[in-house]
Amino acid sequence: MAVPVDDAVSDAPKHFCGIVAMAFNSDVKYDLKKALRVIQHRGQEAAGIAVYDGKAIKYVRRMGLVHEVLAGPEYDAIAGNMGIGHVRYSTTGSSCAQNCQPIVVTTNVGDVALGHNGDLVNSTKLRTKLQNDGWAFLTTTDSEIIIRILATELTQNPDPVKAIRSTMKCLDGAYALVFAIGNRVFGARDPLGLRPLCLGKLEKGYSLASESAVFDILQGEFVRDIAPGEIVEITSKGFISHRASTPAHTAHCMFEWVYFARPDTIMDGREVYDVRKKLGQVLAHEQPADADVVIPVPDSGRANALGYAQESGIMYEEGLMKNRYVERTFILPEQAKREEGVSLKLNPIRSTVLGKRVVVVDDSIVRGTTLRKIVQMLRRAGAKEVHVRIGCPPVIAPCYYGIDMKTRDHFIAAGRTFEEIAELLGADSVGYTSVKGLQSALGLSEQDLCMACLTSEYPTCVPGEKMRFQKTLI
Ligand code: AMP
Repeated sequence: MAVPVDDAVSDAPKHFCGIVAMAFNSDVKYDLKKALRVIQHRGQEAAGIAVYDGKAIKYVRRMGLVHEVLAGPEYDAIAGNMGIGHVRYSTTGSSCAQNCQPIVVTTNVGDVALGHNGDLVNSTKLRTKLQNDGWAFLTTTDSEIIIRILATELTQNPDPVKAIRSTMKCLDGAYALVFAIGNRVFGARDPLGLRPLCLGKLEKGYSLASESAVFDILQGEFVRDIAPGEIVEITSKGFISHRASTPAHTAHCMFEWVYFARPDTIMDGREVYDVRKKLGQVLAHEQPADADVVIPVPDSGRANALGYAQESGIMYEEGLMKNRYVERTFILPEQAKREEGVSLKLNPIRSTVLGKRVVVVDDSIVRGTTLRKIVQMLRRAGAKEVHVRIGCPPVIAPCYYGIDMKTRDHFIAAGRTFEEIAELLGADSVGYTSVKGLQSALGLSEQDLCMACLTSEYPTCVPGEKMRFQKTLI
């Protein structure tokens, strides 16, 4: 059987991005830039900031990395004591300058800027309704839908908190939001807490960010996570919390800990590095291997491999050299290009693998491209046996909440046994952490996690999919 090939490129923009907001007693522009550089891993396609200069919201946003976009005359020309910033994840088909954020509009209560991380599941319905009401759209993003709804709400009720609350009632799906509304700055998190957002105190004021590592690097303090369904206003002196909803359960995206977030971030009370190491320990317990050496797939498999080595007692070594200047191979549009990209990105360290029984550990398998190439490389470098171990349970279902995982037939694990996957990868064996093992490493119950890509049970209504704890919607 052939390895699944993903040539069907989705045009829908995905919003697995990074956001920040700041309210200071002096210019925020430099710290917004620094913060966006800290979360650059959450998006490399485009970046931007919007600041309130005392009269209006001014912005700079473009395709490119943070240090490329936030430089030059346009950036030098803006200044303000409050503002927001955004980095955008790149997915094939969504690359276009119009889709850059923050998105800025003028309303009858003044300028409004929005940065959004996540995907709505009811965007088509909302967009159709707004278009029927006479709105015209400039972008294909969910974010424009949100700002149009907010603008309408602000027209009816100029209190920003009430307007944000009413806007949130219309939205279904995953969203962490930062807003500059005139001279005020707000953040909000979806009622299930699918996407992260946290609060920090910096020397010059308060800040919101997708990841807590921002506050460490800016010499500040992490205060707390924004609660699911909470709206927060930040000022230079403090913060004010407003509840939009109080959910019975949350649905934190497990993939943030598995792959997306920085290891030094603490998200919803759990350090990412610690969770990844525990995943490796659980994996060693659940899927042992008779082997001489444990090697990581750099960089995302490193903490998993370390945990695996510690728990199994098998020696940990670096076995693959990574070229950090090669682009993300995951998002390349064709299978041949992705395979070529993996070969350029990774090369075995011969002395580690020659004549050895090797356990190679990665954080996740989606299509199987990376691991299939790696197994070939390790064998060519003289590995006697290659055992693949994966920190995340098998990914078998699409994500509708912003992670770049497409239709079911692209997933190597969908409908296959571990033996069949091993055969496709050319490995001697394959083992994944179980869903129960994932929950124990996270210390969260299934009622508080989104594991839809592992279980096919979604925490919100998605037409044609089974809803968590409920029935399938047709
Ligand atoms: P694949 O080669 O398609 O099996 O993808 C798995 C590899 O890509 C692993 O090394 C992951 O660390 C990484 N990965 C998994 N999901 C994503 C994603 N949504 N975006 C980018 N990289 C990913």
